[in-house]
Amino acid sequence: MDYAIARRRMVEKQVLARGIHAPLVIEAMKRVPRHRFVEEALWAQSYGDHPLPIGEKQTISQPYMVALMTQALELKGGERILEIGTGSGYQTAILAQIVSRVYSVERIPALARRARRVLDDIGCRNVNIKLSDGTIGWENEAPFDGIVVTAGSPQVPPHYLEQLTIGGRLIIPVGGRGSQVLKRVIRHGREDFREENLLDCRFVPLIGKDGWSEGEGR
Ligand code: SAM
Repeated sequence: MDYAIARRRMVEKQVLARGIHAPLVIEAMKRVPRHRFVEEALWAQSYGDHPLPIGEKQTISQPYMVALMTQALELKGGERILEIGTGSGYQTAILAQIVSRVYSVERIPALARRARRVLDDIGCRNVNIKLSDGTIGWENEAPFDGIVVTAGSPQVPPHYLEQLTIGGRLIIPVGGRGSQVLKRVIRHGREDFREENLLDCRFVPLIGKDGWSEGEGR
């Protein structure tokens, strides 16, 4: 299988054709070898229009969802971004092509380890990964120009709002355990946050202090 051709088709049919046009996002999606972020038995399916299992009951998100969430951050290049839910590391790698540094938090050790290895293998040098409960953000490195949460939360955790720069954007799925609405919150001033709904979505649960409890979530 020619993965470069599969990747070009994925970008044309699943991303451009559905209205994602931000040049930095398109270029990043053309470059990052998505197949490397799933186990080898799934490489042939890795450019399909769906999420895939990555072990530990978690998933690598659908390519379109990764593109949409990245575009919603309205990146220009040079930003510092916090990602909650490293998972496979694919969304991390897309962000790392565009911004100056990605801070990514994952709660499952095996996933954090594997993502680190793949990101190192493909040459992503501007990524810090922390094993922790990401519902409290990453206080030591705050504030962030953007925060992207790749798991569904019952509410907007307050730490994310506090850890945004003025002008910063938070992209987060909020709702029940089975389905959520993808929201964008823009911080216009110290206490001025404006929220909009982007689309309906289904993410695995965000588990932690300000998310779901382990029992509820799985
Ligand atoms: N963006 C990822 C990718 O492209 O592979 C998809 C990640 S998957 C849909 C969601 C991830 O969020 C899982 O790896 C899960 O373990 C992680 N997660 C859930 N709750 C978390 C928390 N409180 N802190 C950090 N990671 C969390």
